[in-house]
Amino acid sequence: MPLFINEHLQNIYGEKVYKLALDAGMTCPNRDGTKGVGGCIFCSEGGSGDFTFGDKEPYSYTAQDIHDQIELAKSLISQKSDCHKFIAYFQAFSNTYAPIEYLREAFLAAANHPDIVIVSIATRCDCISQEVIELLREVNRIKPVWVEMGLQSVHPRTLDFINCKYTYEEFAESTERLSAAGIDVIAHLILGLPGEDHKMMEESVDKACALPIKGIKLQLLHVLKGTRLEQIYTNDPFHIMSMEEYCELVVSLIRRIPEGIVIHRVTGDGPRRLLIEPKWSTDKKRVLNTINKMLKEE
Ligand code: SF4
Repeated sequence: MPLFINEHLQNIYGEKVYKLALDAGMTCPNRDGTKGVGGCIFCSEGGSGDFTFGDKEPYSYTAQDIHDQIELAKSLISQKSDCHKFIAYFQAFSNTYAPIEYLREAFLAAANHPDIVIVSIATRCDCISQEVIELLREVNRIKPVWVEMGLQSVHPRTLDFINCKYTYEEFAESTERLSAAGIDVIAHLILGLPGEDHKMMEESVDKACALPIKGIKLQLLHVLKGTRLEQIYTNDPFHIMSMEEYCELVVSLIRRIPEGIVIHRVTGDGPRRLLIEPKWSTDKKRVLNTINKMLKEE
């Protein structure tokens, strides 16, 4: 049975490690016209980050901004719990899509912060140049680096439909290159995409896990306000899984994940104010409890 992320981090750091979501003022080639406009059909205004630390222009954040965001996020978390170790999570948009010196300033600001133990960078597989890999190697010498790359599905028809503008082959190639450079890759998959049945999702998990990834995120599809997915759903509603169906699916997928690949997520964290479906997903505790119960029963 693969480990879940909290247990994995507890084993390494001897305590709970918290993620601090950061906004480094990035954009995305699938939104700025380089690869496409409008982005992936499920992506909301915040570029899968859905928070903002201000109204700055893209690429205008400084090392001080990153430091200030870390301090602010830390102070909010420490009101709720006694924590000392944190992951700097560059979440919003594509966080390796910027001039290299801009990226260096942001990543080093995080890596050099004494309370940060891991630098986690969310990005796309087509934003992994050799220059980026060299920079990540440099950061990895200071603190461990995770690169979280969206794959979503391995099926070309689905990738085309959701307008991601990359292929499984590009994802595989970037994963191989990052892994060869000693950088941990976390694959992000979405469960419940229109037109996909359980067998297709199993194939996505199997093909992702056949690559040299270190972690996997299973993200429940959220239909969010203001996205193209909302329009598609409104015009032609597609199947939305019930909580029970979803939990059974997740449990069956967990069984396929090899030991050694850490499970970072099994549901979703969609912003409530934007969520249209599935409404049950707002009760994350219930979803996680159901999955845990099912895992124990098997
Ligand atoms: S790659 Fe990420 S940020 Fe870019 S459009 Fe897709 S979901 Fe949004």
